[in-house]
Amino acid sequence: MIRRYLIIAVAVLGIAVAVLLARHGRRTHGEQQTMSAAQLAELTSLEPIDAHTHIFKSSTAFVGMLERLHMRVLDILYVDDTDSYLTSLSKQRDDASRFVESNADRARLCTTFDPFRFKDADFSKEAVAALNGDFEQGAVAAKIWKNVGMEIVDPAGKFVMPDDPRFEDIYHDIAAHGKTLIIHAGDPDEAWGIPSPWGFVSKYYDANPQWNMSRKPGAPQRKTILEATDRVLARHPDLRVVAAHFGSQEDHLDELAPRLDRYPNLAVDTAARVRRLVFQPRDQVRAFFLKYQDRILYGTDLHPFPATSEGPAPSEWENQYTLDWRYFATEDTFEYQSHKTQGLGLPPEVLKKLYHDNAARWIPGLESKLH
Ligand SMILES: [Zn+2]
Repeated sequence: MIRRYLIIAVAVLGIAVAVLLARHGRRTHGEQQTMSAAQLAELTSLEPIDAHTHIFKSSTAFVGMLERLHMRVLDILYVDDTDSYLTSLSKQRDDASRFVESNADRARLCTTFDPFRFKDADFSKEAVAALNGDFEQGAVAAKIWKNVGMEIVDPAGKFVMPDDPRFEDIYHDIAAHGKTLIIHAGDPDEAWGIPSPWGFVSKYYDANPQWNMSRKPGAPQRKTILEATDRVLARHPDLRVVAAHFGSQEDHLDELAPRLDRYPNLAVDTAARVRRLVFQPRDQVRAFFLKYQDRILYGTDLHPFPATSEGPAPSEWENQYTLDWRYFATEDTFEYQSHKTQGLGLPPEVLKKLYHDNAARWIPGLESKLH
């Protein structure tokens, strides 16, 4: 009997771990990647910046890995009411701030506000006051997440969009303080039941049905969400905006290009989307990186689990950095998360912009001393 319970307990634990891994998409594929001494020297010489991480706990080994790679990180908060830990803004702010303050030469905070409070009479006033408090403490950016556009509805059942007038004072405030808005608006095609045009198969929406928009009656299309984002860009030409995940146009770089042309205050990050680029025609992706070399920030979306005893698994992070470097910097033919691809072999001056200069310019304060 006890044995049976044990087997059930182990199975339940296994499923929980698998679900957690799938949620955050950090399952490793293939063998451990190691950087050669020459590659490590090239990467560290750039003083690289990972402009998209979510770090809420740390360890000596993790910080040691960042130091060895000379990696700086932007540590981003976001309120997610579908995740027990991320529901609380104050808890994640405390945890991330502790990491940032104890690694002031490596990390900066990107704060956020709780969009679920949008119905409160004093919503924008309180959000602005809290953001300003974080800016005073050294936060260099603020984030708005995909629940705006894909989840939050007003009392009439209408989806709240990024250009909702209730966010206007917040955008003004971020621009007035010279900070950067990181926006994750929309998701890839699969969220709307449309397969990736390049054959990338995502299991994310099986593990996270709450983001499957094809199940939500009256949900806006991605195009509608991106158009709302574009109205924010047009209304606030003085607001620097970094659209995470290639602005959710990771599979449609040809559609992202005209947006970058139209809005000079828009840049994008690569977070968690290199795994989709590797499916696309190499020449097209390479041409995009060359043409928009001043507008793309390197980021990973790496995400340790605060809810478990597991640390940030430095080897797994390093694995991601190694794979990405091989893709961007070399012309090697290799397996990127089980998909055979050839590296882009970007020129050194473009790598320097991707890994350092663009983050430093689009997110001022990332490099300065904290106090
Ligand atoms: Zn993220």
